[in-house]
Amino acid sequence: MKNFFKLDKPTFSFEIFPPKGKGDLTQIFNTVDALASLDPDLISVTYGAGGSSRENTAEIASRIQRDYAIPALAHLTCIGSTRGEMRAILDTLRDKGIQNILAMRGDIVNEGTKDFAHASDLIKFIKENYGFRIFAACYPEKHIEAYSMEEDLKYLKAKCECGVDALISQLFFDNEHFYEFRDKARAMGITQRIEAGIMPITSPSQINKMVTMCGASVPAGVQKIIRAYGHNAMAMREAGTAYATAQIIDLLASGVDGIHLYTMNQPEIAKRICENIRGVLYSLRVKRG
Ligand code: FAD
Repeated sequence: MKNFFKLDKPTFSFEIFPPKGKGDLTQIFNTVDALASLDPDLISVTYGAGGSSRENTAEIASRIQRDYAIPALAHLTCIGSTRGEMRAILDTLRDKGIQNILAMRGDIVNEGTKDFAHASDLIKFIKENYGFRIFAACYPEKHIEAYSMEEDLKYLKAKCECGVDALISQLFFDNEHFYEFRDKARAMGITQRIEAGIMPITSPSQINKMVTMCGASVPAGVQKIIRAYGHNAMAMREAGTAYATAQIIDLLASGVDGIHLYTMNQPEIAKRICENIRGVLYSLRVKRG
């Protein structure tokens, strides 16, 4: 199996989400089959995001490694959990052979904090007790609760100092936000690799949901696409795929460490994007060696 941290940059990874409830895993593994054929450097599996199951994250991540020999990244949130509960989950992940964890606080919904107030508390806990490689979340347009970008970056730096190996960004539709964020992070001494999170737009409702959830801004170019093609599912998917492709090509040309594609469990869109960028990705990997 590849070692994600030893691969040539830029890396290319996918995110999937488990089905709701305990559920049948046949469909998700059909998705993994299709994504695996695109030879990603890593596949990450969400944890309870958007109401998806928490129970299946470890199982899916473990099978991605075992059956497909692709590095897996298990997402994990700590809000509302005790140290004992976290220990039980982390033991399961370790016993299933998971090596990479995306350690997060999670959104504050109804559950108050218990033993972990911030992602940094979880990261410290993992570092003290386990040997996982740690990924953490970052926000090119600042986290929705943060008062300012400067405040958010200050906490991001502190989080990184707890033992983060790599960062994955929240989705964004305007690359300039990412470049500004990356420059500021580097100027503050944040040296971890930063994977850029890209979500292809597939429908107007999806955009509305994402903007409400994470506060990403929608540039005029995206608004125009939605106005022109939002009424037609096929046109919208084509335009959304083309927009994401253009974003990725620009990011790659600007020296991004890696691309993390939010696949929304739609491998056909990931496939089209991979076909569109195969040449540029290959040429950069050869050039950077
Ligand atoms: P933190 O790093 O704790 O930051 C949260 C807020 O607190 C920020 O505003 C930060 O500035 C502030 N802060 C941090 N430390 C301190 C401190 N010491 N004192 C005061 N303020 C502080 N959610 C899911 O439920 N499941 C998933 O699978 C999932 N996957 C994700 C994947 C990615 C790539 C990203 C970007 C997000 C994902 N999320 C997921 C959403 C995530 O859980 C939320 O964005 C959550 O609100 C914040 O988590 P965090 O780990 O970034 O929090």
